[in-house]
Amino acid sequence: MTRKPLIAGNWKMYLTRAEAVELASAVAASSKGLTDREVMIAPAFTSLAAVQEAVGGADAPIRVAAQNVAWEKQGAFTGEISAPMLQDVGVDMVILGHSERRHVFGEDNAMVNRRLVGALEFGLTPILCVGETLEEREQGNTFKTVEEQLSQGLKNVQADQMEQVVVAYEPVWAIGTGKTASKEQAQEVHAFIRSTLVALYKKTLADSVRILYGGSVKPENIDSLMAQPDVDGALVGGAALDAESFARIINFT
Ligand code: PEP
Repeated sequence: MTRKPLIAGNWKMYLTRAEAVELASAVAASSKGLTDREVMIAPAFTSLAAVQEAVGGADAPIRVAAQNVAWEKQGAFTGEISAPMLQDVGVDMVILGHSERRHVFGEDNAMVNRRLVGALEFGLTPILCVGETLEEREQGNTFKTVEEQLSQGLKNVQADQMEQVVVAYEPVWAIGTGKTASKEQAQEVHAFIRSTLVALYKKTLADSVRILYGGSVKPENIDSLMAQPDVDGALVGGAALDAESFARIINFT
């Protein structure tokens, strides 16, 4: 089963529009000619249109994603954005259930599931983020947390829809902390995620789902992470804001 690696940059709440276009253009240049991997960048909502315009016509396999999406087409949802609004500016992917959404803004598995089902219904490709806190890991609850986030986050997602979904394992203790999971720790949980997907769906489908690792991915650790059999890409925060570092990550060997 071949899974095309995906290197995704999460720009979080950083960069003005001009800065975002400049970085996106640099990412497009570093991705030029790559056909064996996909590159994705997720700017802030205000920069999506300009970034899509900057890279949309480029000879580069770059996809532009949003960092969240509401489940309804429109309505009284102050502060939210809908899938058709994102599609209107050429966006076709979305990060969902990021640990900052869960832990800073209180999004629970039910809300993440609602967003995910909505995103799929509108035809967006979701990246479902899962991952345990340090406390959960220390208490031996890593698998339990990840299993709950997967089974509840994917509730009512049919097998044909699941083909669109990307999963990102992002241990909360590794995000923005400089502490990366070791390649063995990452592989162990990625294999667990795949086995959970086998139980929820079936093996052929589980084998086709891309599982990204996220949490302090850097130029220094990308190659060894990508060498793990169940690591199919990376979701990168801090290092994605630096053109040179992200270029090295995109060009992992
Ligand atoms: C993230 O934001 O998803 C992330 C993994 O951040 P960082 O790479 O900075 O840990």
